[in-house]
Order: sequence, then structure tokens, then C-alpha cells
Amino acid sequence: MSQRADVVVIGGGPGGYEAAIRAAQLGLSVICIERRLHKGKPALGGTCLNVGCIPSKALLDSSHKYHDLKAGYEKHGIQFDGLKIDIPDMLARKDKVVDQLTTGIAGLLKGNGITWLQGSGQLLAGKRVEFTPHEGEAEIIEAEHVILASGSKPIEINAAPLVDDIVVDSTGALEFTEVPKRLGVIGGGVIGLELGSVWSRLGAEVVVLEAMNDFLTIADKAISKEAKKIFTKQGLNIRLGARVTGTEVNDQQVTVTFTDDNGEHSEVFDKLIVAVGRRPVTTGLVSADSGITLDERGFVHVDDHCRASVPGVYAIGDLVRGPMLAHKAMEEGVMAAELIAGHHAQFNYDLVISVIYTHPEVAWVGLTEERAKSEGYEVKAGQFAFAVNGRALAADDNAGFVKFVACAKTDRLLGMHIIGPGAGDMIHQGLIAMEFGSSVEDLQLMCFAHPTLSEVVHEAALSVDGRAIHAIQRKRK
Ligand code: FAD
Ligand code: NAD
Repeated sequence: MSQRADVVVIGGGPGGYEAAIRAAQLGLSVICIERRLHKGKPALGGTCLNVGCIPSKALLDSSHKYHDLKAGYEKHGIQFDGLKIDIPDMLARKDKVVDQLTTGIAGLLKGNGITWLQGSGQLLAGKRVEFTPHEGEAEIIEAEHVILASGSKPIEINAAPLVDDIVVDSTGALEFTEVPKRLGVIGGGVIGLELGSVWSRLGAEVVVLEAMNDFLTIADKAISKEAKKIFTKQGLNIRLGARVTGTEVNDQQVTVTFTDDNGEHSEVFDKLIVAVGRRPVTTGLVSADSGITLDERGFVHVDDHCRASVPGVYAIGDLVRGPMLAHKAMEEGVMAAELIAGHHAQFNYDLVISVIYTHPEVAWVGLTEERAKSEGYEVKAGQFAFAVNGRALAADDNAGFVKFVACAKTDRLLGMHIIGPGAGDMIHQGLIAMEFGSSVEDLQLMCFAHPTLSEVVHEAALSVDGRAIHAIQRKRK
């Protein structure tokens, strides 16, 4: 006899496991199918917990501590000898963090009465799901509702096929057992900058080969300009307009050939990371007669409520349009579960935060100045630097600035952009303000604690109207 469930979730990443938990909280019977084996063990948590957000942040934190100790403490009057780094220990700590979190998710599913089936799921016609375990016979599950949450995987390029642990994707770049002398990174996007920073801080000479002529085009122009300046000063050699034409591996090294406006070049590296974006995982996810349609870019086609082309089937996370971010996947999962349970639910796609966890961090929410103008807004903007902020100076961590973009006619906040210490946390001030439809004046009228980094947020809001206090600005109103 086949199993049945109110909800079958295919994929146990942040989108899938949050959907499963919320559906169970709402009293539905839930099966979550996840096939991932991480280091030989079945694991929930998807890309995010196993090979994405969490392990990359563990290495970013370890490498930041090492780099700070190496270069940053003499000014504070703190000196010591004998600083050493043990990469296998660093990797072991990262693995422990991953293990703790993925085990925790397994506990949460169990505690919520959710059945985790270890193996692959495929949606068939009529909301039937075929489950194929890692070992043993396939079985059919009858589902009232299905949530597709199979995530994404790295894009591979013909010019740089992966080779053992020399030419690697982001997963391989989390596992280097020693610091490469010379590290190449194809792609100057989020992964390139974060993982490039990890290995650069630990001593690698890092060259980033970015195909576009402009740097970090998704960010506000003022932010990307500052980011390029800061990352270059930190030692990342960012080569823009670099089109990789081929790679050759010899004697544990890789030669990369590329062209740019100055002609053809070649560079030799000990390791090469290919980080040119990710694509949705759709192979084997749905049968040909399932009725599910894909969009022109290969994502599962959904509406604003993540409803796919078959009634009762939802798709969420990296598998569907929108930014490939864990928090976006999570909120979509919760929304899908609530809709299935008959609740009203929606998701504000205009306010999805982006954070790049370099140091300083880069974070933004809402519209860039360029985008706001192209959407027809009469824009006013203001920014304020961490350079003169008391707390940032006290910590000797004062690069970057906060920028606000607002509508000149209505005073409404349209976007907040930060490059600076704690940007990934401070950006939530902008998120909350914008969710509540705040004006610039609302922020100007608030009393921010002193001395805090957040005072820069206050000053940036004041500077929109030319009235920041710790800068020479002519007060206009
Ligand atoms: P996934 O996390 O990819 O999970 C999907 C799961 O489905 C996988 O475990 C897969 O095994 C399983 N699956 C697929 N097909 C099937 C099937 N047919 N049957 C059963 N199981 C299946 N995002 C952030 O927001 N912040 C960050 O700091 C961040 N850092 C990142 C760092 C790196 C190096 C990478 C690679 C990504 C990072 N991301 C980050 C992106 C983030 O990991 C993804 O956006 C997020 O994991 C997407 O969640 P998801 O649930 O849609 O898919
Ligand atoms: P990305 O889209 O951020 O950057 C890819 C970069 O590679 C782009 O700048 C692109 O112009 C460049 N590129 C593409 N093809 C190229 C080529 N042939 N040669 C040279 N450059 C090329 O993608 P990513 O860095 O691989 O990250 C994948 C996804 O994972 C992103 O969507 C991101 O949102 C997510 N992620 C998020 C975080 C975070 O939130 N902090 C961290 C890591 C990854």
C-alpha cells in the first residue's frame, strides 16, 4: 500500500525544511524527502548548511580572526609572538559547526512529527511522488500538496572544467587543506569575493577574473566603487572584463588563459575556484507528464505566491525566480505552507536583503539610486562615512559608509546601502523602516544611542537633507 501525506516536500534545504516545519506546526502530516549525503552521512540543511552559508561563514570568521591578530592589534598596544595557523583544525571546526546545525534540523523535523525519507523524490502526474531510497525499492506517495525545493548547483563552464582539488567549485574551495600560494577565482560575484577573501586573509595571492567590465553590478554604484577600492587595498587583484578562454592542469598547477581589452594573458595558479553563478536543480525532479512548466531560464515557473502550474504544487527557493538566498527560500517555504493550510500569506519581494560577508561587509535592501531613477522616481540620496564615527574609530574598524536613497517628492525611503562594519546586521534597520513605509524624516527624528555604529545610519538619514551634524553640510530645511 502506498503512503500518503497532506504535504510532501522534495528537498530539505532551508526552503524545504522550513516549509515542512511550518506545515507540521499548522497540523498537517508532512513527509520531507532529502537525498543529500554530506561526507558520507545523510544530511538535512541543503546547500546552505552543508556547503554554503554556514561553512563559508565559519571560514570567514576563522580567517578574519587570524588576519586581525596578524595585522591589526599592534595599534591597540597588543603584541604577541608565535602566531600559527593550522588549516586542518580550522576545517575541523567548520565541519563541527555544520554537523551541529544539520543534526539540529534533523531533531526539529523529528520533534515536529515530520517523516524524513532519505533518497530522491520525483513528482509524477496527479500529485503522486515517487520516492527512491539510497538503497532499496522505489515507492509511491499520494500527496494532497507538494512543495518542490530542490535548490541549485554551481554552473560549470567549458573553459574551466573541474579537476580534482585543483580546479574546484565553491564546495571544493571550502576544503583546501593548505593555503594556496596563488589562487585564481573565475567570477567576481558573492562567492568569489567571500571565498577569495578567506584564502587571501590566510596568505594566498588572489586574482579574481570577472567577465563584466564593471564590478559588482548588482549593488548601488557608490557601494561597488568603494568595495572595489577596499578589496583591492586588502590584496584582491580584481581583473575586470576578463574572459577566460581555457585552462590547463599540469604538475598540480593550473594555467588560465583569458582575454581583456589589453589582449591575451595567462596566469598560473595552485588552485582555481570557478564561481560564475548557480542554476536550478530540475533534472529528475518532475516527470514529463507532471504538468510542471519551467520558465525560459530553466527555473520552475511560479506566481508571486510560489504556486506552480499544477494546482496544489508549489516551488520555492533557488529553484524559482528571484535571488538565490537562504532567507528568501525560507520565507517562501513558510508562505507555501501557510497557503496550503488555508491561511493568508504573502512575501514582499521588494525588500529582500543582500549581504556580502567580506570585511567590511556589504549589505543593501530596496532600490539602488540607479534603479530608483530608472523606475521614474525623483531621487534624493545621502550618505555618511564610518570614518568619523566614534565607535568605529575606537574599534579601528572605520572603512565604508551608509547611504539612503529616497523619493524627493514623498520623502519615502526607497533603499538603504551599507559598506562597513556590521553592515549585515545594521541593514535590518532599513528593512524594518521600509516595511513600515518610513520617511527619511522618521529616521531623522529618532534618537540613536551613542557611541554606536548605528549613529552612522542616523547621520546618513540627516545627510539626505544636507543636515548631517558631523560633516560640513548646509542645512536646507
Ligand atoms: P538548497 O539549499 O540547495 O537545498 C535543496 C536540497 O534539495 C539539497 O540538499 C538537495 O540535496 C535536495 N534535492 C535536490 N533534488 C532532490 C530530489 N529530487 N530529491 C530529494 N532531494 C533533492 N545564501 C544566503 O542567504 N546567505 C549566505 O551567506 C549564503 N552563502 C552561500 C555560500 C555559498 C558557498 C553558497 C554555494 C551558497 C550560499 N548562499 C547563501 C545561497 C544559499 O545556500 C541558497 O540560496 C539556499 O541554500 C537555497 O535554499 P533551497 O532550500 O532553495 O535549496
Ligand atoms: P554571482 O552571480 O554572485 O556572481 C557570479 C559572477 O561571475 C558575476 O559577477 C558574473 O559576471 C561572473 N561571471 C559569469 N560568467 C563568467 C565567466 N565565464 N568568466 C568570468 N566571470 C564570469 O554568483 P556566485 O558568486 O557563483 O554565487 C551564486 C549564488 O549564491 C548567488 O546567487 C548568491 O546570491 C548566492 N550566494 C549568496 C551569498 C550571500 O548571501 N552572502 C554568498 C554566496 C553565494
